Amino acid sequence: MSEAIEIYDDRIKLLIHPDAVLQKIASGVVWSEGPVYIREDDSIIWSDAHGNRLLRWSDLDGVSVLRDPSDFQSGNYRDREGRIVACSSGLRAIIRQEFNGEWQTLVDRYQGKRLNSPNDLVVKYDGTIWFTDPPYGLTQPNQGYGGTQEQVGSYVYRFVPDTGEIEAVITDMLRPNGLAFSPDEQILYVSDSSAFDLPNGYHHIRAYDVVNECKALNGRVFTEISPGEPDGLRVDIQGNIFVTSQDSVQVYAPDGTHLGKILVPETCANLTFGGQEGDRLFIAASTSLYAIHLNTRGTQLL
Ligand code: MG
Repeated sequence: MSEAIEIYDDRIKLLIHPDAVLQKIASGVVWSEGPVYIREDDSIIWSDAHGNRLLRWSDLDGVSVLRDPSDFQSGNYRDREGRIVACSSGLRAIIRQEFNGEWQTLVDRYQGKRLNSPNDLVVKYDGTIWFTDPPYGLTQPNQGYGGTQEQVGSYVYRFVPDTGEIEAVITDMLRPNGLAFSPDEQILYVSDSSAFDLPNGYHHIRAYDVVNECKALNGRVFTEISPGEPDGLRVDIQGNIFVTSQDSVQVYAPDGTHLGKILVPETCANLTFGGQEGDRLFIAASTSLYAIHLNTRGTQLL
């Protein structure tokens, strides 16, 4: 087994190649966040969230800068049409890159008040955008332009791009951060990273039942994550949860068993499945971007 893998349960051997090696594929980033895979040109687009830039990497071309400044863009994803949708921590909005290349704001308010600073998002099969809205862009000088918090709390929202409808679907978390659906979209996992900035904060993942495609109910703690706090997470086709932490990407079975870790030499913030087969894990970690081949693949459609 590779030196990069820590095993707690033999099931992880089915998920990760025995000789998988963690590769550092890019560096020189202030704070890597929000990677998304672009199948058409086999590239990764990701955020230098604290460096206020949007970056691109491919094996062929190396690293290039797509947006500078990026208004503190954080999480990135693709919608059903292949457009990039993203959290703009600086604009306090969900934004989308249209086919002509221009970025437009999709939503920046809930009940007439400005959002805090959207951090991460996922597009459901039905095209709705689910995103988290902690206040880090207001409270952390390197994550946004500051400003006054107008929302009473930090919620998870469901946004319907076609109609502009927005609803707070989770209101009982302190700092919702990364999020992902189970393969059948019946469970929504959301990380709470509030231990980062609140004395009695959490460092756990909560699970919610998705009811009628539009509600998140029966919230419960799925697992605690340490060291550090959980940030981004992704789910593979078998329902295993891959979540970032201070020392690694941690892997959990759907039943909550901690299967093991992919050790990473820098603090991990976010991750995505990619590669033409969807079986390569890309990890945004502090100053770098890492990649490792897996024996499983992600649920992301595009
Ligand atoms: Mg995040």
